[in-house]
Amino acid sequence: MNDELNDLLEKHGLKKTGPRVRVLSVLKSRDTAASQPELEEIIGKEIDRVTLYRVLTAFEEKGIIHKVLDMNGTAKYAVCDSFCTDKQHKDEHVHFNCTSCLNVYCMDTLHIPSLAMPKGFTSEVVNMMVYGICQKCNSKHESSN
Ligand SMILES: [Zn+2]
Ligand SMILES: [Zn+2]
Ligand SMILES: [Zn+2]
Repeated sequence: MNDELNDLLEKHGLKKTGPRVRVLSVLKSRDTAASQPELEEIIGKEIDRVTLYRVLTAFEEKGIIHKVLDMNGTAKYAVCDSFCTDKQHKDEHVHFNCTSCLNVYCMDTLHIPSLAMPKGFTSEVVNMMVYGICQKCNSKHESSN
């Protein structure tokens, strides 16, 4: 696990530091995106707020993680597709925001279709968010019936 994280950092030109490895391992272990407050809660006092912010900023710049805004406008972070670089983030997958647990999921297998822009408009980033009930919340609902 740690080797994989070290390789990922190295590949994106970041030196391995304790906080970077720690934050990356937390993000990698989750199936939902995490906001900075959520990460603070998971990691605890081990990493201070400023360091955490710097780690997240560096990861985003280098193409290791991408940011998604949830339905409340809170920024959440998820690990990028493996082909992201500091030059280009290609996370053009659909995101799913559960209206029950408020978690945001990366739908890696659902690619955003290319949209033909009207004349004079150049598309740079396309975001697509689906709102609904996630698998976990659906199964909770079923088992309580
Ligand atoms: Zn990316
Ligand atoms: Zn849910
Ligand atoms: Zn994503």
